Amino acid sequence: MLNIMVHKFENYDVIIVGGGPAGSNAAISYKNLNPSLKIAIFDKAKFPRDKSCGDAIGPGVINALKRFGNADILENEPQVVSTTLFGPDNVGIQNYIPQVKNKADSVVYVIPRYELDNRILDKAKNLQVDVFENYSFMNFEIENDFVVVNFKTEEKQLSVKTKLLIGADGANSRVRKNMKLKSNTDKHKAIAIRAYIDSPNYLDIFKERTLMFEINVSAEKGYAWAFPSRDNMLNIGIGVPLNIFKKDNLDLDSLLNNFVGQLEKRGVIVENVRLKKSYLLPFASFRPKVSKPNRIALIGDASSMINPMSGEGIFYGMEAGYLLAQNTFDKINSENINQGISNYYREFNKRFNKHFLSCTLARLILQIPFMTKRLLNVASNDQDTIDFVVELLFDEAHLTLSEVSKLVIKFIIPQKILKIMAKN
Ligand SMILES: Cc1cc2nc3c(=O)[nH]c(=O)nc-3n(C[C@H](O)[C@H](O)[C@H](O)COP(=O)(O)OP(=O)(O)OC[C@H]3O[C@@H](n4cnc5c(N)ncnc54)[C@H](O)[C@@H]3O)c2cc1C
Repeated sequence: MLNIMVHKFENYDVIIVGGGPAGSNAAISYKNLNPSLKIAIFDKAKFPRDKSCGDAIGPGVINALKRFGNADILENEPQVVSTTLFGPDNVGIQNYIPQVKNKADSVVYVIPRYELDNRILDKAKNLQVDVFENYSFMNFEIENDFVVVNFKTEEKQLSVKTKLLIGADGANSRVRKNMKLKSNTDKHKAIAIRAYIDSPNYLDIFKERTLMFEINVSAEKGYAWAFPSRDNMLNIGIGVPLNIFKKDNLDLDSLLNNFVGQLEKRGVIVENVRLKKSYLLPFASFRPKVSKPNRIALIGDASSMINPMSGEGIFYGMEAGYLLAQNTFDKINSENINQGISNYYREFNKRFNKHFLSCTLARLILQIPFMTKRLLNVASNDQDTIDFVVELLFDEAHLTLSEVSKLVIKFIIPQKILKIMAKN
């Protein structure tokens, strides 16, 4: 039997559980705002580690990296310059990523998470953040002015004291469970599978490095993607809402095969399908409500921050890490720490709630095949509509009353008239 030793570690100002993009960026932010803070990241994995993902990072992540001078990790990576959307009956549009309103860089990179996450974590290590790998979070106990956090490795258990505990431990967050917060119900979650393939002719077929999305084709109410990474390599995948996945007894491998078939129908050569990996996406259509923070905060997937329309979560998680640090870095030793955490939640919600609500609505509408086709038809004749759809995907856009009225009119009027209006 394994002889478990219990160690007492030194104390920290901030302990972050999870070294993904949200956790690493929180650590980077604290160290930049106050280099004297003692920060530790604990992760159950040994880095570099894989993460099931489409690997696409857009203007938001580029902006978050630039904030503290870390955009060099994108150097020498090929840029993706456009998006291509397909719906039922082969309706499709291709469009440049428009100049997004809140950020300077309107490009996307597709970098395997095995490398990207390790590069961001290295930036934290360079700032003297202590990183403990192969340490699994077990539980915490709240004492007066600190939190005792318990971890285990294969050989030992540890108890560490901290003034602030951050749960950045992803979609199945144990920190969140220990806080007794509800997890997302199945209709507020998706399940998705990703794989890597080689395709010698993808770029010839689409004429440029384009992110291909397919809505409601290979999976009913689902969404598939093919994202070009380096050389001939692509990240492909498919996801569906979890409630539909369970109700229809679906199988992820079969859905992925359907999508490979669709790619081949478009002439794309698919070779060497490998490294299939599936995981859950907790959508931001349901967010946990924390009334008494007790020196504990959640960021990233642990706090359900994934865009319900695009499946993007890296940006929101990184931005949450920064906003949390900004609201608390000068309150770690004060009684106002819990007020700082509440201010972080308030600021995050104020900035993103309308955006998440608009994306939730867009997803529900796009689940109806007729609406997917109609939207793509309207967008193919109307630059404003496609720009707006792409801003929902890559920026912080939200629907306003006037936007909704304009869209309703465009949906109702006949295509021919829309085409004439577009020409004028
Ligand atoms: C198939 C798929 C495709 C996606 N595509 C995209 C995309 O193209 N672009 C995009 O922006 N987003 C995408 N997402 C979402 C994105 O992957 C997540 O939003 C993002 O990884 C969230 O980052 P995070 O740091 O919060 O969590 P994670 O990246 O999940 O990191 C959590 C970390 O916590 C660690 N951990 C977990 N439990 C414990 C524990 N008990 N103790 C210690 N450590 C623990 C894990 O090892 C991990 O390193 C996709 C998701 C899926 C599933």
